[in-house]
Amino acid sequence: MASIAIDGPAGAGKSTIAKLVAKKLDYIYVDTGAMYRAIAYELVRKNVDIEDEKALSDACSKMKIAIKYENGIQQVYMNGENVTPYLRNEETGDMASKSSAKAPVRAALLDIQRNMAVEYNVVMDGRDIGTNVLPNAETKIYLTASADERANRRYKELIEKGESADFDKIKADIIERDERDMNRDIAPLKQADDAVLIDSSNMSIEEVVSAILDNVK
Ligand code: C5P
Repeated sequence: MASIAIDGPAGAGKSTIAKLVAKKLDYIYVDTGAMYRAIAYELVRKNVDIEDEKALSDACSKMKIAIKYENGIQQVYMNGENVTPYLRNEETGDMASKSSAKAPVRAALLDIQRNMAVEYNVVMDGRDIGTNVLPNAETKIYLTASADERANRRYKELIEKGESADFDKIKADIIERDERDMNRDIAPLKQADDAVLIDSSNMSIEEVVSAILDNVK
C-alpha cells in the first residue's frame, strides 16, 4: 500500500489539500486531527483533568475509537457513537491541542493510524505522520504558510459562515497552538528530514495540489 504523509501547522490548509490529493489518486483521506479532537471531545464531556495522569490514562483506556468511511468521508466513532459532527469547534480544538501532548492520548491513536496505512492507500494529514506514524511513507510533504496568512484564511472562513471573528485573537491562537505542537516532548511537529517543504502563503489550492502530485513516487 502507498502512503502520502502531509504534516504542518494549524490552518495551513492540510485537510483541504489532502482531500483533493486523495480524490485525484483514489486514495483514502485520513484526518488524524479529527481523532485527537474525538478524544478531546470525550475528555471535555467526561470532565477529565488532563493534568491528572491516572485520571487521563483511565479515561483513555475506556475509549473505544473506530474509524469508518461513509460516502467516502471519514467518521470517528467513540464508544459506538459517531462524534464527527461535534469536533470542529473552538472548545474541542483547544482541548485537542493540549491533550494531544499527553502520552496516553497519543498511544491510543498510533496503532489505529498505522493500521489504516496497512489496509489502504492513504493520504494522511497531521503533525507527526512523516516523522513518527508513517516514517516509511513514500511521499512526505511539510505544508506551511505564514501565521498571518493562516489567520487570514481562518478569519475569512468564519466571516463567510456569518460568524463573528477577531483577526488578532485568531492569529494569537494559531501561534499558541504552533508553539504547543512544536515544543511538546512526544512526537512534536517538525519537518521530516526527507519531507518536501511547501509554503502555500502565495499559492492557490490548485497549485499546492499539483505541487504535491508532482512529488508522488
Ligand atoms: O488538525 P487539527 O486542528 O484538527 O488537530 C487538532 C489538534 O490535534 C492539533 O492542535 C494538534 O495538537 C493535534 N494533532 C496532533 N497530531 C496529529 C494531528 C493532530 O498532535 N497527527
